[in-house]
Order: sequence, then structure tokens, then C-alpha cells
Amino acid sequence: MKRNLLLTPGPTQIPPEICAALGRPIIHHRTPQFQENLKEAVEGLKQVFQTKNDVYLLTCSGTGAMEASVCNLLSPGDKAITVEGGKFGERWSELCRSYGVEPHVIQVPWGKAVDPAQIKKILDAHKDIKAVFITQSETSTGVTTDVEAAARVVRDTGAVLVVDAISGLGIIDLQMDNWGVDVVVSAGHKGFMLPPGLAFISLSPKAFKLVETCESPRYYFDLRKSKEAMADIDTPFTPAIGIVIALNESLRRMKQEGLPNLFASYARLAKGTREAAKALGLSIFTDESCQSNVLTAIKLPPEVDGNKVVKIMRDTHGISVAGGQDSLKGKIIRIAHMGCVDEYDILTGISCLEKVLLKLGYKFTLGSGVAAAQKVFNT
Ligand SMILES: *Cc1c(COP(=O)(O)O)cnc(C)c1O
Repeated sequence: MKRNLLLTPGPTQIPPEICAALGRPIIHHRTPQFQENLKEAVEGLKQVFQTKNDVYLLTCSGTGAMEASVCNLLSPGDKAITVEGGKFGERWSELCRSYGVEPHVIQVPWGKAVDPAQIKKILDAHKDIKAVFITQSETSTGVTTDVEAAARVVRDTGAVLVVDAISGLGIIDLQMDNWGVDVVVSAGHKGFMLPPGLAFISLSPKAFKLVETCESPRYYFDLRKSKEAMADIDTPFTPAIGIVIALNESLRRMKQEGLPNLFASYARLAKGTREAAKALGLSIFTDESCQSNVLTAIKLPPEVDGNKVVKIMRDTHGISVAGGQDSLKGKIIRIAHMGCVDEYDILTGISCLEKVLLKLGYKFTLGSGVAAAQKVFNT
């Protein structure tokens, strides 16, 4: 069987103990056995979200939790701020419009992060803004947003801060309660190393007040139902039973490592990847001030077609990385170092990248990328 190494920003690799948990026979969800699993999962999630608020489990991909936050917080005609510096920031705007909310859009050049002062300026001018939507780790560009700084400008206003932490949670720090973040959404198939199908959402009491008065249509994603069910350690609909059970393996693994150690190890993998790219004579697409530890976006020289790099790495060598989206198609590749990835996975990915770049006629010193990453990993 050919290797299938996923260095992609979701889904991510699934470690063996989680695969094994996924293979267990199904149990029924309205049972004390499942309740025990659900309780453990929620307690574990609260630690990763760094919150005392409940965390609700939704059966959907990450976008479902994003939609849940829009349709539970905003009514048609309400005012909101979105930040568009990549595909996922744009998704917040599109979701708002789907529910009759025309957002104040802050346009940010791709590869750069939003300046919280811009958010503050709009909030000061429009006191009736109800929500500010940001992206912790913009997966299309490799940008990390300073969530703590954004929370500082939002938390004493009437607005709530909603953070898409789908790709970043468990990989880079997000202190929901300490920083004063109102809503955090995430999903299982990124930092949590699970197959797709499970999303998470946690809301502050300030945010839940909006849920109770919101007039947008909602049924499956009605978080009032989630709250009511949670009081009895239950879910309103059939949960993704098997994935919830596997989530507990993932949470055990994260707890064993400890969040600070996890963050530090991803930071090292990211640094190794960036140094490897630079040693190969390539530059990092993302501005130096906001480079993400979740994934690295690498600019390719004009003579190298990024789509070919991705295709050859995957089809010939069994190593998946992501290409660029929209205007970045063919121009960048994105190497993710999230979830179940270690330094040998990164070294394998870099050495494969070197092989493919060589094949495509790019001139560089063979082995220089691997050596640069090795240096980071061994000091
Ligand atoms: C993966 C991802 C999403 C959600 O995508 P789904 O395909 O719905 O799981 C949202 N935001 C970011 C930043 C992501 O990386």
C-alpha cells in the first residue's frame, strides 16, 4: 500500500488509537454509556477552549458551526463586522448575507492580518453593531489574527466577538475566558485529528443573550435546543456517536501532552518548515508579523506551477499538501503542520518537495531544505 501522508489543513492524519476507537461497535446515544462519553468530551473540550462555558457538539463540518453562530446571534437587518483577508473570512460575509445581514467588511490584503484599530474605528462609529466575526488562523493564507488584541477592542462594547478557530484550536493559543472572547467555533478534522463530521461551538453568557432574542429562522442549529439538552447531558438530535467516542481519545492525547507543550511543538514544526522553504530559495507568502504555526504558505517561483507540485507530490509520492485558492491558484503551496504530525513527517514532506522541484527544473542545492529543517529540529 502506498504511503498517504496528509500535510493538508484539514482533514488531518488520524493517529492509530483514534482509528481503533472509530472501529468500535456502535452504541445507542440515549444510554448512560454514551452519556458518560459525552460528559467526558464536553469537559475535555472546555479545557481546550480554555473556558467555563459549555461547548456544544454539532454533527456537521466546520462551516455548520459558523452558520450556527450567525443564525443564532443575528436577526435580519442587524449590523456586523467581518474581516476579509482570505477565503474563510469571506465565508463570514457570505453567511451574514444569507441571513439578511449586510456586514461592514474590512478588506485586508491576503497574507496580512487585520489591525484591531480598524475594528475599533467601525465599532466607535456604529454603536449598534452586534457582532464582529474574525478568523483565528486564515487557512487560505497562513495568517494568524491576534485574537487577544481583537478581544480587547470588542469586549467592553455592546458587540460580541465571534472567532472561527476551526483550523487553529489546539495548535495555537486561544484563551476564550481570559481574553474575553464571546463565541468560539471549531471542528474535529483539524487539530483534533478526527474524521470530518463533528463541529464545536461555545458561547459566553453575553452571546447567549442574543441567542434567546434572535429572530432568524433556525431549526437543526437552534442552540437553545443544544443548551436545553446539555442540561441533561444529551444532544437534541442523533450525535456523531462514533466520532464523539473517538474525540475522547484525541482529548486524552492532548491532555497528556499539555496545551503549552502542544503549542510549542507546533511552533517548532512551523519554524522548521519556514526555514526549509527559505533555504530552498523560496519565500513565505504570509507577512512576517503574522505567520501561522498551523500551516505554512510558500510562494513558488514563477517558472514552477504549484498545481503540478501538489499533483506530483500526491499522485507519485503519496504526500498531500494544499495548493493556492482563487488568485493564488498555482502560485503557492500550503504545508500544514497540524494534528498528528511530527518532525519526521515534515522532513519527509520537505524532501519530497525538493524532489519534485528538481524534476520541474527549479535550481537549488539538493538537501538544503531538509538540512535547514533538521537544524531547527535539533537545536
Ligand atoms: C477548514 C476550515 C473551515 C471549515 O471548513 P469545513 O469544510 O466546513 O469543515 C472554516 N474555517 C477555517 C479557517 C478552516 O480552516
